[in-house]
Amino acid sequence: MPGHVIGVDIGTTATKAVVFDLRGRVIARESVGYPLLTPTPATAEQDPEEIHRAVIAAIRAAVRAAGVAPDDVACVAFSAAMHSLIAVDNEGNPLTRSITWADSRAARWAERIRAEGDGAAIYRRTGTPIHPMSPLVKLAWLKEEQPQIFAAATRFIGIKEFVFERLFDRYVVDHSIASATGLFNLANLDWDEGALAAAGVSRDRLSTLVPTTHHLEGLPRDLAADIGLSPGTPFVVGANDGVLSNVGVDAIRRGDVAVTIGTSGAMRTVVERPATDPLGRTFCYALTDRHWVIGGPVNNGGIIFRWVRDEMAASETETAKRLGIDPYEVLTRIAERVAPGSEGLIFHPYLTGERAPLWNSDLRGSFFGLAMHHRKEHMIRAVLEGVIYNLYSILPAMEDMIGRVQTIKATGGFARSGLWRQMMADVFDREVIVPESFESSCLGAAALGLYALGYVDSLEVISGMVGATHRHAPIAQNVAVYSRLLPIFLAIPGKLAEEYRQIASFQRGA
Ligand code: ADP
Repeated sequence: MPGHVIGVDIGTTATKAVVFDLRGRVIARESVGYPLLTPTPATAEQDPEEIHRAVIAAIRAAVRAAGVAPDDVACVAFSAAMHSLIAVDNEGNPLTRSITWADSRAARWAERIRAEGDGAAIYRRTGTPIHPMSPLVKLAWLKEEQPQIFAAATRFIGIKEFVFERLFDRYVVDHSIASATGLFNLANLDWDEGALAAAGVSRDRLSTLVPTTHHLEGLPRDLAADIGLSPGTPFVVGANDGVLSNVGVDAIRRGDVAVTIGTSGAMRTVVERPATDPLGRTFCYALTDRHWVIGGPVNNGGIIFRWVRDEMAASETETAKRLGIDPYEVLTRIAERVAPGSEGLIFHPYLTGERAPLWNSDLRGSFFGLAMHHRKEHMIRAVLEGVIYNLYSILPAMEDMIGRVQTIKATGGFARSGLWRQMMADVFDREVIVPESFESSCLGAAALGLYALGYVDSLEVISGMVGATHRHAPIAQNVAVYSRLLPIFLAIPGKLAEEYRQIASFQRGA
């Protein structure tokens, strides 16, 4: 039996490749970054060729750094960001860039499908909310806005399909990435005819559907030699980064909830059968045929703390840089001087509108409750609290679907801060467990790869691979404070719907 497994995550900022041993220990990790191209505020694209090169470079570098022999690698298994869309021609040349989840040019088409089409029914069948992130909505937009490109395209694919086609000359899409396109019927595990009609595409222009455990072999010899693998090394298609992050933090049993706060954020849990929400608050994506992930994505995660760092704390950031300290650490230390609850200051972090649970792109941020005793440190702490309150606001929809949640498994850049982790335990009034390792999607992919190839008989193997964790129990005194402030935080957006609409319209120059 080989002694290593490689997990690869094709993310929005970089592709990471991690060589693990079979106990989940990191032997080597490499990351190759690339830009998000935003020529207009609504555009968010990437160069698919550059990402293909980054995938090869990351795997090659990780294999070299680990010093593993080609026949000692069980498989290379993939995670990727969901919702990307690339139009390609006959020869597989891209006719568009990779249009990412963050691209909002299709916003009007989302509204139109919701209002005029059978958007609610499509959501219930496909599990993907009707939103500009969704490839279904992007296709409807592309068809009308760029009809020549739409007509010239032989296929519409996502970034992982692009990479696999380059490696194996075949268009395959796993059920997990497919289930985030808005075009995949959760009950039939097939493309959904009604959704295809709404998108304006036929199934022959999409990739062949395969389970997430599907694997391909037969890497071209020279490429295999270049990367340091064998032509026979299996490449497991894998799943999307969200569902694999649940695997990677060992949140795959009923009642386990994973919360990620990276640049954006999400709350997710695993259920045995596909499930959607009558109120349309949650997504449902495939992990395996027996594991489905339901949850809600938020826009306003760590990006809001980055905004504080860059726009509110320029001098602190400068000082930190001079002293060689991470500015985020300086800012969290400043926030620590203020008591939980920020002495009654509440921050709504809706700087980029919001997805779950309100799905309203007109929402805007605000400080509520400002008084003369509040200083900058209160504002910094209130921002950290507001990001957690916002994630907490998804919990009721989840508990409606799965019952009372006991433990939160958390991951993402926010987890570097002990203060922020404890705040999550106190706001949620739940125990919070955080793996020390940050590679949850790569680890999740690696575990799925071992399962796909039959080296382990269930995904439960992950509990032995996660490694050391931080544990935070809620502190009763802090819970009491947050339980008074949370209802105020939650009530405000409902009361300001019209004013949010007006201010967003004003900002758009309408
Ligand atoms: P991505 O989602 O792009 O992979 P990460 O998971 O690395 O990003 O998360 C990045 C975010 O994590 C930053 O925007 C910031 O809010 C937060 N973060 C990073 N370092 C720290 C830190 N030391 N303390 C608190 N928050 C941090």
